[in-house]
Amino acid sequence: MKNNKDYKFWFCAGSQDLYGDVVLEHVAAHTKEMVEALNKSGNLPYEVVWKPTLLTNELIRKTFNEANTDEACAGVIVWCHTFSPAKSWILGLKELNKPLLHFHTQYNEEIPYDEIDMDFMNENQAAHGDREWGHIVTRMGIERKVIAGFWKDPDVQKRIGTWQRTAVGVLESSHIRVMRVADNMRNVAVTEGDKVEAQMKFGWEVDTYPVNEIAEAVNAVSDSDIRALTDEYYGKYKILLEGRDEKEFRDHVAVQAGIEIGFERFLEEKNYQAIVTHFGDLGSLKQLPGLAIQRLMEKGYGFGAEGDWKVAAMVRLMKIMTAGMKDAKGTSMMEDYTYNLVKGDRGILQSHMLEVCPSIADGEISIKCQPLSMGDREDPARLVFTSKTGTGIATSLIDLGHRFRLIINVVDCKKTAKPMPKLPTATNFWEPRPNLYTGAEAWIYAGGAHHTAFTYDLTAEQMVDWAAAVGIEAVVIDENTNIRDFRNELRWNEAFYR
Ligand code: MN
Repeated sequence: MKNNKDYKFWFCAGSQDLYGDVVLEHVAAHTKEMVEALNKSGNLPYEVVWKPTLLTNELIRKTFNEANTDEACAGVIVWCHTFSPAKSWILGLKELNKPLLHFHTQYNEEIPYDEIDMDFMNENQAAHGDREWGHIVTRMGIERKVIAGFWKDPDVQKRIGTWQRTAVGVLESSHIRVMRVADNMRNVAVTEGDKVEAQMKFGWEVDTYPVNEIAEAVNAVSDSDIRALTDEYYGKYKILLEGRDEKEFRDHVAVQAGIEIGFERFLEEKNYQAIVTHFGDLGSLKQLPGLAIQRLMEKGYGFGAEGDWKVAAMVRLMKIMTAGMKDAKGTSMMEDYTYNLVKGDRGILQSHMLEVCPSIADGEISIKCQPLSMGDREDPARLVFTSKTGTGIATSLIDLGHRFRLIINVVDCKKTAKPMPKLPTATNFWEPRPNLYTGAEAWIYAGGAHHTAFTYDLTAEQMVDWAAAVGIEAVVIDENTNIRDFRNELRWNEAFYR
């Protein structure tokens, strides 16, 4: 996937000139030391950049406006080493439009019991300086993240790192462009939505192209390009003929290779990072894009089936937020299909008719060709696999008519009790937290869809912070959910977000 920009985060300490130059020299030196330690820790995906200590209205306003116009700056981190009278920050805060983190820390870990005197107290007073600063941000109603903890603590550093990914998600959201080559499936409600409002809230551009325009791009792909990519598939994946003729099978796989190349060229040429398709609207395409879409998702494109542009954009957003992550386990569109209700092994079998991203695969990936039970085209080739175990989040962005709601369910992925040799699709299998029954009830009360954007690599906290930053409601279903409180939360949110 095309990586994000080389984003940086500005680290600004707040202070004032009341304590003299020596204290200010210490403030600057300590802050530089902290920035260097954060960058060396390996716990932050993006670099932190030291900025001169912020002392006056003028400097604060100037620095924040520079952050606004610097395209490489993805956010500002503020910490008040000493007391910094917060009225000095009002104008700058009013104009800041980059994600904001209040890092509530302190240079020293332990009180220096033997040496502590009033000079030390004046120099190291984040405990009350940061409260003064937090007050004005709250009073101004500015959305920000607060992280408290010692700057050398790896767990605290990791929290800064996960917030950086959220901040990049907030910024990059406005560059997501979704190509629709089909409308939403007829009569389906939950995949609909207000595209104008989505662009205002999230920045997403959602545009339609006639399906035959992209089909022409597929037809224009040369035989030699198709042959080369088909060879690559045959080298990389296990071929499951299941009694089909070898040549006929390869021809079907080659159709998907042509779709992958043609779609990618068309998306690149027109600068789209996500796409939706629809099994009932394929124009001159010979097969529903299956294997091709799976590979494009793996490369970082967002995807939504049956015209589901909200899921396509959410999958793309999650791909951006997890870009370059060490040991990433994967991100995909998913669909709730069928349940296992056996006590002790309850869960939801996740799949789609074809389009599951192989980034979530565990172990061997195979190619199968099978008829689709829907539509009127050739049997499409698709990648088949099972998915990794572990914790993930399934998210659903719904349009309630007058606003959006993001539903986030923490889920535990596991293996099914037995293999499913007759199932011609990739699968995942998870139990929603707190358990299948309560999780499903809460999801339905919240109005969550059957399509989800799923990832192993982000937390509910990150998506809640993203939703807060873009100004929409988010509800979390996790180990702390009980139905009575959850229904009340939905009612109260109805009032808050009216
Ligand atoms: Mn579907």
